[in-house]
Amino acid sequence: MTNSASSQNSRPLTLVTGGAGFLGSHLCDRLLEEGHEVICLDNLITGRQENIRHLLGRPHFHFLQHDVTLPIDLPALFAKASTPAPDRALRYLLHFASPASPKDYARHPIHTLKVGAMGTYHALGLAKAQGSVFLLASTSEIYGDPEVNPQTERYWGHVNPIGPRSVYDEAKRFAEAITMAYHREHQVKTRIVRIFNTYGERMRLDDGRALPNFMVQALQGNPLTVYGKGAQTRSLCYVSDLVEGLYRLLISSEPGPVNLGNPEEVSILQLAQTIIRATGSKSSIVFEPLPEDDPQRRQPDISQARQKLAWEPRVSLENGLARTVPYFQSSLQNPPRPADATLPAS
Ligand code: NAD
Ligand code: UDP
Repeated sequence: MTNSASSQNSRPLTLVTGGAGFLGSHLCDRLLEEGHEVICLDNLITGRQENIRHLLGRPHFHFLQHDVTLPIDLPALFAKASTPAPDRALRYLLHFASPASPKDYARHPIHTLKVGAMGTYHALGLAKAQGSVFLLASTSEIYGDPEVNPQTERYWGHVNPIGPRSVYDEAKRFAEAITMAYHREHQVKTRIVRIFNTYGERMRLDDGRALPNFMVQALQGNPLTVYGKGAQTRSLCYVSDLVEGLYRLLISSEPGPVNLGNPEEVSILQLAQTIIRATGSKSSIVFEPLPEDDPQRRQPDISQARQKLAWEPRVSLENGLARTVPYFQSSLQNPPRPADATLPAS
């Protein structure tokens, strides 16, 4: 808890777009712990109010259901939610709204492009008007199927601009470009984070990513579906480590881009085997076709984060999985209530 942030007058007002998603909801928790007043803006296309249910009705937390591909008129949104709007400017704006899993962005290709382009434009306009620090959640996907490993921030990437993943990759590349343009032309204080694969509690069980798929398959005793030969690699970061890095970047003066992720690189076949062990499952592994343009290697070079933020991950894959298994077990036993629409808006 930051002491200077805890009194009413100095409590920073902070908006998180995509705040009801996996990462956004953990960020809302952390920002509240740090003494911020938090406005969570989300249209719930891939997120869930379940993720923020514990925050609804708490002091200094507001939920506004809104699609950021439309202009963000905060006074109108607060009026619609019949909640008084805070009477000071936004100190920070963290832009996390976007479908994030390959299955989600394949299902919503045009929305993904719109939220990366128009959503980022609207969020930057609000940050400019309010003099806020703007943090963009970018992604390792901007490196595409990289020809260098590990990836440093200086690498420009290897992206198929018309392939099935391009709706996400190019949206995020545009988002980075417009963020830098607002920084250069309007002097908006911007931060760009390139997030590598992150996992943990509150991931949707059906979001199609490797980790939730493997967890659910292993816990249900079904075969784990490894695409291709499973030789492609990823480097997985536990959510508490990522949130620590994000917070450090937010309060730094580092415009970025900065890679955040865990450099512990594993093949997808190893990941499947590790999850079988972590869950004590007797599941087998089956091999299915590799999706088009699936990146072959991915590992962050985190020298910048180490130097500029004094950050590095602390949770190993084995320990992170051990923390995550109980969440998947309990979610399978008690599926989240599909009652989002009945919750109060603020
Ligand atoms: P998520 O799907 O759980 O969260 C995204 C949230 O954005 C959801 O709550 C969704 O409803 C909301 N959203 C989408 N479009 C919106 C719109 N038009 N208006 C308002 N809200 C909208 O995914 P996540 O894993 O939490 O990812 C969050 C952010 O982090 C994304 O921008 C993603 O690109 C980035 N990221 C995540 C990872 C990862 O490993 N989880 C890796 C790289 C980058
Ligand atoms: N993958 C897999 N089986 C699954 C889901 C994904 O083998 O059931 C692979 C996928 O092809 C990719 C890797 O796991 O090579 C990571 O996929 P994910 O969707 O988690 O994230 P990505 O890093 O590709 O965005």
